[in-house]
Amino acid sequence: MPNIVKNTTTPGILDLIAPHSCRGCGHIGNVICERCKKNILASHHNFCPSCKTPNTNGICQKCQTKSPLPTFVFSERSDLLSGLIYDYKYNSVRALARPLAEFIDYSLPHYDEKIYLVPLPTISRHIRSRGLDHTYAIAKQLAKLHQNYYVSKLLLRNNSSVQVGANAKDRLSQAKTAYSLNPKTPIEKDATYLLIDDVWTTGASMKSAAKLLQESGVKSINLAILAVSV
Ligand SMILES: [Zn+2]
Ligand SMILES: [Zn+2]
Repeated sequence: MPNIVKNTTTPGILDLIAPHSCRGCGHIGNVICERCKKNILASHHNFCPSCKTPNTNGICQKCQTKSPLPTFVFSERSDLLSGLIYDYKYNSVRALARPLAEFIDYSLPHYDEKIYLVPLPTISRHIRSRGLDHTYAIAKQLAKLHQNYYVSKLLLRNNSSVQVGANAKDRLSQAKTAYSLNPKTPIEKDATYLLIDDVWTTGASMKSAAKLLQESGVKSINLAILAVSV
C-alpha cells in the first residue's frame, strides 16, 4: 500500500543543506547550544503578562478576577529569545520548535491529569508561505515531553486579519472573531486545556480563545506563553 500520509516533520531545505550553528554564540552543531540554552533558561521568571507583577503559581494577585486562568509565562521577549522566535517564525528554522517547546515546558507546573495542548491557530496563508505551522509544531514537541499531554486542534482560525501593527483596540475587535471551535474535535469538559501561544502583545488573542473554551463548558483552562512583548 502506498504511503500517502503527508510527513509534516520533513525538515526545510536549509535544514538539510546547511549545518546548524548556535543562534547565540555561533558554535557549530545545534541551532541553540546547551550553554546558550542554559542562559535563556536562567532568564525564566513567571509574571503576569498584563501588569508584569511576578508570581509563582500563574495567578496574578493584582489582576485576579473572579475566575482567573492560571497563566504561565516563560520570559520577556528580549535578546536571544526574541531572535530565536524571529528565526523560527519568519525564517522557518524548524529545528527551533524543540528548544522553544522546552522553554515553555520549563515554565509549566507539574500536571498529573490529562492535558490537551491547544495551539492558537495561525492564518493559513502564513502557514503556506512559511511552510510551517509554528505554534502547532511547538505544541507537538511539547506533547513529546510528557505522556499525559495531547495536542488538540480544537481552535480554528476564521479570518485572515493580521494583528501586526494594529493598535490595541483594533487587535481586540479582530481577536473577537479570529477563532472558532472545531466542530470535528470533541471536547472533554473535565480535562485541562492548555492554550499555547508564542508571543503575548496585548493578550487579545489568548483572551478571545480562552473565552471560546469557557463558553463551550471547559472547566479547567491554563495559558502558556513563550514570550511577552516588553
Ligand atoms: Zn551557543
Ligand atoms: Zn497582573
